[in-house]
Amino acid sequence: MSDDAWRPAIARAAAALTSCRRLLVLAGAGLSADAGIPTFRGSGGLWRNYPVEELATPEGFAQDPELVWDWYRERRLQIAASQPHVGQRALTLLQQHFPAGQVLVATTNEDDLLERAGVNEVVHLHGEIFLTRCTTCSWQGDDRLDNALSFLPCPRCGARVRPGSVWYGEAVPIAALQRVAGFDPDGCLVVGSSCLVQPVASIPLELRLHGHPVVEINPEATPLSELVTCSIRALAKDALPVLVDLLTSATVREQARRVT
Ligand code: NAD
Repeated sequence: MSDDAWRPAIARAAAALTSCRRLLVLAGAGLSADAGIPTFRGSGGLWRNYPVEELATPEGFAQDPELVWDWYRERRLQIAASQPHVGQRALTLLQQHFPAGQVLVATTNEDDLLERAGVNEVVHLHGEIFLTRCTTCSWQGDDRLDNALSFLPCPRCGARVRPGSVWYGEAVPIAALQRVAGFDPDGCLVVGSSCLVQPVASIPLELRLHGHPVVEINPEATPLSELVTCSIRALAKDALPVLVDLLTSATVREQARRVT
């Protein structure tokens, strides 16, 4: 496939999404990959020869909390040193161009790159890496404000603290799922997600089954690919700025209105 083979799909994707009134953007690890944060299933799948899918589990933490904390501290530093890219900034523009409240951005990413790109309200479906929380009580603190938190016991009850990420095998925070359900999306743009991790993977699937348009940006095929309205086989940083340009164009919106 030539570098530009994905470009015709962008126009189809824009036509499919342009009439959405409540567009959900669902961003996975592939979106942050373009900012230098590795995905778990790619080359970032091993850390000091430990499979990260074993480190990011309650069992891994119970077995060796300091090892897991070392990995998370290293990831925090890597994320803090990274910068949002043009694709992430394009999502901010999309939100600003659409009438207020018409674009909601939800992510399985635990980093803060979307917030730093200027996105208004990021729904974190798999937690936030910079939060440190108690394993026993409801205390949590923000490591960006005090980066000693992970080395100390819980200041409220004295128990061990853990990263604010949602681990494999743990439940997705109900408030995050309720926020997405309450938004009642009528279209979805899935960017850089393998769509393998439940329950989040069901969100675009259900929207599609209800007849809503779903567009995927991913250089690789996913379990969702056969069902989506349109797949854009490209990197997020290349495809998102072009798609957002089209979606925010009055001409494109007018053409789509005439066709429907
Ligand atoms: P994943 O690692 O399972 O899949 C990433 C997907 O992104 C793949 O389908 C891949 O083909 C695609 N991709 C890779 N590079 C891309 C690019 N430049 N542009 C577009 N797509 C690209 O990720 P996931 O489905 O989001 O979920 C796995 C879990 O891993 C999540 O629970 C998440 O919490 C965690 N995770 C988070 C981060 C982060 O916070 N940045 C990074 C790695 C993993």
